[in-house]
Amino acid sequence: MNTTRRGFLTAAMAAAAHGQLGAQESGHDHQEVPSDLTLRVKALESLLVEKGIVDPAALDALVDTFEHKVGPRNGARVVARAWADPSYKKRLLSNAPEAIAELGYTSGQGEHMLVVENGPKTHNLVVCTLCSCYPWPVLGLPPVWYKSAPYRSRAVIDPRGVLAEFGLQLGEDVELHVWDSTAELRYLVLPERPSGTENMTEDQLAALVTRDAMVGVAKVPAPRPGGNE
Ligand code: FE
Repeated sequence: MNTTRRGFLTAAMAAAAHGQLGAQESGHDHQEVPSDLTLRVKALESLLVEKGIVDPAALDALVDTFEHKVGPRNGARVVARAWADPSYKKRLLSNAPEAIAELGYTSGQGEHMLVVENGPKTHNLVVCTLCSCYPWPVLGLPPVWYKSAPYRSRAVIDPRGVLAEFGLQLGEDVELHVWDSTAELRYLVLPERPSGTENMTEDQLAALVTRDAMVGVAKVPAPRPGGNE
């Protein structure tokens, strides 16, 4: 990382000016001015690296982890294994961190996790009312809406209303549990396995599982006839 803060800002301005020029020439934008936040983060990063406080290689490794190694695909693998293997599911529900580590997902912010199971008459929804605690090893970083004040407050005050806004209408006979995550304990929803998936392989099952279903704001949709296989 050789970029100085001034150098970066100059380059950003030049790129932005070029983008405007390009837009005039071709009728569409090529480059947008980085947001204030992006510029601030970049400036801070440059400074920390320049002063030798942060090792750029360590920073690259961290970014690589969150871009490529940690994310909801990990959680989808855990869910698919639980659907396919009853003994794994039992281990997952009784000791989530250990069962999740069996699949190799052991990064930080997941030392204490609880997996809660959805069924025909039970639905679980996860929120962090205080901030944005989230099970990183299995879901990666939380989406913007999870961190938003309206979701954090309304998921508790009016969970059925929130679910309806996500497109999920729960029957009156379905018991709804809302779990408030903390830095000490984070939750992962084990969604209900949809019908029509009886003959699917674990890979095919994992492909069906969405992040939203593992937070509890959606169900895993049944596979389309003729699709997904
Ligand atoms: Fe939090």
